[in-house]
Amino acid sequence: MTTVENEDTPTKLDFVRSIVAEDGKTGKWDCRVHTRFPPEPNGYLHIGHAKSICLNFGIAEEFQGKCNLRFDDTNPAKEEQEYVDSIIEDVKWLGWDWEERLYFASSYFQQMYDYGLELIKKGKAYVCDLGPEETRNHRGTLTEPGRESPYRNRSVEENLDLFKAMKIGAFADGAKTLKAKIDMAHPNLNMRDPVMYRVLHASHHRTGDDWCIYPLYDWAHGLEDSLEGITHSICTLEFENHRPLYDWFLDALEVHHPQQIEFARLNLTYTLMSKRQLLRLVEKGLVRGWDDPRMPTISGLRRRGYSPAAIRNFCKTIGVNKSNSTVDMALLEHCLRQDLNKTSPRVMAVLNPLKIVITNYPMSQVDELEAINNPEDPDAGSRKISFSRVIYIEREDFMEDPPKRFFRLAPGREVRLRYAYLITCTKVVKDEDGQVTELHCSYDPETRGGNAPDGRRIKATLHWVSAAYALDAEVRLYDHLLANENPGDLDEGEDLSANLNPDSLKVITHCKMEPSLGETEPFCRYQFERLGYFCTDPDSTPSRLVFNRTVTLRDPWAKVQKQEQNQKQSQKS
Ligand code: ATP
Ligand code: MG
Repeated sequence: MTTVENEDTPTKLDFVRSIVAEDGKTGKWDCRVHTRFPPEPNGYLHIGHAKSICLNFGIAEEFQGKCNLRFDDTNPAKEEQEYVDSIIEDVKWLGWDWEERLYFASSYFQQMYDYGLELIKKGKAYVCDLGPEETRNHRGTLTEPGRESPYRNRSVEENLDLFKAMKIGAFADGAKTLKAKIDMAHPNLNMRDPVMYRVLHASHHRTGDDWCIYPLYDWAHGLEDSLEGITHSICTLEFENHRPLYDWFLDALEVHHPQQIEFARLNLTYTLMSKRQLLRLVEKGLVRGWDDPRMPTISGLRRRGYSPAAIRNFCKTIGVNKSNSTVDMALLEHCLRQDLNKTSPRVMAVLNPLKIVITNYPMSQVDELEAINNPEDPDAGSRKISFSRVIYIEREDFMEDPPKRFFRLAPGREVRLRYAYLITCTKVVKDEDGQVTELHCSYDPETRGGNAPDGRRIKATLHWVSAAYALDAEVRLYDHLLANENPGDLDEGEDLSANLNPDSLKVITHCKMEPSLGETEPFCRYQFERLGYFCTDPDSTPSRLVFNRTVTLRDPWAKVQKQEQNQKQSQKS
């Protein structure tokens, strides 16, 4: 059974933390712990990155170490300042602090180049004239060894001259590469003379036109870790078979050599989890942007109403392991509800209003009633809400001809208005099409606060807002963006729009809000009583309120857990 973790529960000692703890005992790194989170600024961060962020920053915090934020900005073609800014904002928002240690791989370009010269001098790197296609053809397959490049045995002097010429722009894009001289028959394809540098005449968002050769990931990443004195270089499982190369480069250079540790990446049901795919959604206009509340990006989740604590608790709950799996979206939403339940003020809002006239309530009378702000938080206090003759309730809370198990309002039936009075429906008013347009009700003045003095049983309590004071608002309801529970990694050619849930966004206008919401600001979170958790959208202005539904109150995950618990108990007895 999965128990949901919170801020106060200690983090379990997973296999990564066990390694770090063991290294502390043996004194392997002089008792230093230094990790890093190394995003490539080629898109906005998503919830998968949050797992890596919480792991790297979390370990540093728990072991009194340090964690760097480092941009792995070695590919000028796809990287932009906008992404750098958004990543900084998102990591901060999640609650982590890199202090003064904000680094860019591009700051190390000169150092990396010098290391390249050094490898050439050691006879461990060479300039190759094979193009991308020929390089691929020479590499061989899993069952066949590769073929050595005809340029493999150039002299050190020739290689130095050519590499320097590459740097000053003597060659066209793709004309030459610098390769590591390892083993074309190596069973691991990554070790078959991998490319370290390519020629690319492209402007970089930070270094401009200073460089026309750019380092490849495998070459660059270990150097970045080494230069920063990283101890544990934590990455996802797909880099497991790159580790021999990571180790080879650092051994060949005889420099500080961190330990690479791989963990399983996060996959979520109904979710595309790759910046490349998310970029396609944005570029094709299938969502409103990177921060569309349906996106699994940190900025999308923030706009949707997720709290940093909910995301951190989720990451703690799923833990870290070595085999890839897919986590149920319901678990993320469960963690979200757990946090919002504790922290969100309760307010009343009616999404689909039905007017009620309380016929025996005096025309000009207004009752100031006491409403509790958050029953889960005694410090949250209470507020006054005004009750008057005309109110709105949720249209779904009335049925003219109710079936057996419908306990809410119906003709002749009495219900409770939350914090207010008991009312009884006395008349149903309809238009010429037979549509109910309003109800007439009577109220019992003896039931102020919603309590019947004679203790008579009332089966339903409805939320409501006073018509005279209500604020108009737009509310956006969301569902899964993807239609398929397990969308996998959709191919480049695949039509993304065909995979989307056509009902992922529903906009309702003319919702009625209690007046306290007039003070709201973007990103404020609430529980709308009986409806779910909602968050003020940045589109919201005092004259046009806009809310996003973060999540409903219904918690399928809690239900599954309860069933499991019951099963266990009945097995015991
Ligand atoms: P994407 O495929 O979404 O572009 P990426 O791995 O290319 O992801 P990077 O910017 O290189 O993105 O990622 C920064 C760090 O976040 C890396 O250490 C990477 O392993 C980690 N990371 C990325 N996606 C996930 C995920 N789904 N679960 C856990 N960690 C992830
Ligand atoms: Mg990437």
